[in-house]
Amino acid sequence: MPAGERRLDVTWDERFDVIVVGSGAAGFTAALTAAADGASVVVLEKAAMTGGTTRKSAAWFWVPNNRLMRAAGIDDPRDSALQYMARLARPAEYAPSHPTLGLPAEEFAALEAFYDHGDEALAALEELGALDVGGVMEFPDYFAHLDEDVPKRGRSLWPAAAEGGQQGGQVLLEGFHRAADRLGVEVRTSTPAVDLVLGEDGEALGVVVDGERGRQRVRAERGVVFATGGFTHDPALRRDHLRGPYVGGCAAVTNTGDFVKLAQAAGAVLANMQQAWSAPIVLERLQRDPGGVAGSFVIPGDGLIIVNRAGERVLNEKAPYHEQTRAFFSWDPVSGRYPNLPLIAIWDEQVAATVGGVDFGNPVPPAHVDAYWVIGADDLAGLETAIAERLTAVGLAAGHDRLAPDFEANLRRTLARYGDFADSGVDLDFRRGETPIELAGAAMFGPGDGANPTMRRLSETGPYYATLLGPGTLDTKGGPRVDVQGRVLRADGSTIPGLYGAGNCVASPSGEAYWGAGGTIGPIFCFAYLAGRHVAARVGAAA
Ligand SMILES: Cc1cc2nc3c(=O)[nH]c(=O)nc-3n(C[C@H](O)[C@H](O)[C@H](O)COP(=O)(O)OP(=O)(O)OC[C@H]3O[C@@H](n4cnc5c(N)ncnc54)[C@H](O)[C@@H]3O)c2cc1C
Repeated sequence: MPAGERRLDVTWDERFDVIVVGSGAAGFTAALTAAADGASVVVLEKAAMTGGTTRKSAAWFWVPNNRLMRAAGIDDPRDSALQYMARLARPAEYAPSHPTLGLPAEEFAALEAFYDHGDEALAALEELGALDVGGVMEFPDYFAHLDEDVPKRGRSLWPAAAEGGQQGGQVLLEGFHRAADRLGVEVRTSTPAVDLVLGEDGEALGVVVDGERGRQRVRAERGVVFATGGFTHDPALRRDHLRGPYVGGCAAVTNTGDFVKLAQAAGAVLANMQQAWSAPIVLERLQRDPGGVAGSFVIPGDGLIIVNRAGERVLNEKAPYHEQTRAFFSWDPVSGRYPNLPLIAIWDEQVAATVGGVDFGNPVPPAHVDAYWVIGADDLAGLETAIAERLTAVGLAAGHDRLAPDFEANLRRTLARYGDFADSGVDLDFRRGETPIELAGAAMFGPGDGANPTMRRLSETGPYYATLLGPGTLDTKGGPRVDVQGRVLRADGSTIPGLYGAGNCVASPSGEAYWGAGGTIGPIFCFAYLAGRHVAARVGAAA
């Protein structure tokens, strides 16, 4: 991709007040908001279909102190909400008595803006007919057990018509398109922005697109809002920036970090580049169907454990997906390898017969479906052989493609220990089933009736099943640093005039956190709304 071209004597093929690049939750929210404020707006989308990762999503959105909570009488005080977000965003820097809770001032300001304007953004989208807010007030936050979480529940919402189902993204996109039609927002698919046009002072004047009409220059009189998603599908950016060996992810395949490259050329400073919204992902599904695969957001089944290549449990199988993913990056300084890459989910016949499904990346297929990613065997010895063969077949890096020599013996010990914990109800190793979110996840599949509803001793006899899991992204969440209005910043803190960003293409103020279900789209609605309002009010340079 060429560096931003700088010139004043550009001939423009078209002119709009505002150009929005990307048509997911961030792009449409910014576009609709700017159009409602009177701007002429075009949305440019690289893919043949609008929606990006948003269309694949369930479109839950996490918003503190939202209208449904208030209507239900659930209190969500500002101070504790900020503490909850800050503590999880920057756990190693969090300082409750510090004026910005230990966070850099601009990140704290963003959390404040999210608390103050998150619900306002929902109201604005509802008013435009783009969104109908629904939800139940029982669903807990991912860290509802922490003292900083005062309401514990009620912040996770969804498009009403989807009722929390996996089709939420489709419902959201329908609403976006209806509102765009009404507001006269032009939406062009198969039209990637391939370059930024900058004025001599560095102001963003417009973009170069490479669409059906060929290469054209489009002028943005007021500003350009990038909303192009993360860099999940650029292996080099992933390798250079992410904090661990992610195997890929379930973001839209067109999310290749284009804004990282264009904004850098325009002088932007990058931030939060090491972080991604993360989930375990079924390795073979990722390899065979990179466009369709979803992260495993709920690992169902009381008789299911996850072990590493040595046959040892290394995580709480019911913990939120984002938190589980951290376990893959554990490093063994003696072998010089990642012992938890990949991890292996193992379950018994009862799980196979009762909790399989197709939603939310369930690694267990529906009962009696012969899925290519499932490894099956009649007994544990056979399972070890079958897993070893599959590990070799999927082409992992040297050393990560083999089981430890004592895998089966370790697995037997692991199963016995897990079974004892299940019988007693207390997981002394990983505290499985202790938090509200784990119980809510288990309830989705019908909780077990043992001492711990998330645990059951696996059957002493086969058949057994397994699948390989790797660390995946929903998408990345680092990129150019922006202020609360979405203006892209240089290293010296000045703004690049006319250049805005929102959504997963820019640095997220959530840092390393995933606060609750909908934790990506909730802030996206808010900050894209603020960016849309700001750009619509901007007076750009003459060009
Ligand atoms: C299966 C699944 C379920 C999920 N469920 C939820 C959920 O319930 N709640 C939640 O909060 N999050 C969820 N997520 C995550 C969520 O979908 C994303 O974080 C969010 O939708 C990102 O929105 P966005 O607008 O930033 O990017 P996207 O929706 O990815 O949109 C970016 C768009 O930009 C386009 N683009 C890229 N480069 C260019 C270019 N150069 N020119 C033009 N266009 C370009 C892309 O093609 C894409 O359409 C889920 C993710 C997945 C995969």
